[in-house]
Amino acid sequence: MHKPLIAGNWKMHTTIQEGVELVIKLRELLRGMDAVEVVIAPPFTSIYHLHFLVADSPIELAAQDVFWEESGAYTGEISAKMLRDVGCEYVIVGHSERRRYFAETDEDVNRKVMALLKVGLKPIVCVGETLEERERGRTIRIVTGQLKGALRGLGPGGIKDVVVAYEPVWAIGTGRNATPEQAEEVHNTMRELLYEEFGMDAAQDVRIIYGGSVKPDNIDSLMAQPNIDGTLVGGASLKAEDFARIVQFRHV
Ligand code: PEP
Repeated sequence: MHKPLIAGNWKMHTTIQEGVELVIKLRELLRGMDAVEVVIAPPFTSIYHLHFLVADSPIELAAQDVFWEESGAYTGEISAKMLRDVGCEYVIVGHSERRRYFAETDEDVNRKVMALLKVGLKPIVCVGETLEERERGRTIRIVTGQLKGALRGLGPGGIKDVVVAYEPVWAIGTGRNATPEQAEEVHNTMRELLYEEFGMDAAQDVRIIYGGSVKPDNIDSLMAQPNIDGTLVGGASLKAEDFARIVQFRHV
């Protein structure tokens, strides 16, 4: 049994001051919490500051993206080593907003995964189908294709540090979450794929988390599914009380 992982993706929200206020509230609400791994992904500009604030709390830091090169003339980009330097443990890669607005491909995601593992950071690899793909019955094909692409060339040693996030595109920021059964079906298939590609340990160790309109009122039923090991939370992670309630999900 792995520790559940609840991660909050703040996206392009919060100034440093707003981030500080949010973390101070969260620290208070999550005091003593150790049953769940709690991760927040603020914008790059706040990470350094927040890293001092989370130091003696259960909260860990993630970045929302990374570039795969180690250093060089890549204006505007940030490397894995820089993210480790600033206090990150995790990095989200392949989020559907990056795929959609920044034309990120499975190959890009794969390069990012490799760059992160090389410096000891843990990738949270996002995969998910669009509404049209789901309606055409292509969900499993799309999601497994993205996952295979993201993990190409990875050995059994690297896979244990990877977190997979199933985020149906139609459920992100729409208020329309996948039902626990819909999510479970995809998670189960991805676990089978991990077993086939990387063996039993990987299938057991890798956490597969769900993202898409996770809220206090649906977290308990999602977490009741055997193959849902946590959640990636967007909008609700910006409200301390809601995020804390999600972290403190109840076993139903
Ligand atoms: C996300 O962007 O990863 C996400 C799941 O967003 P929301 O919870 O707002 O749907």
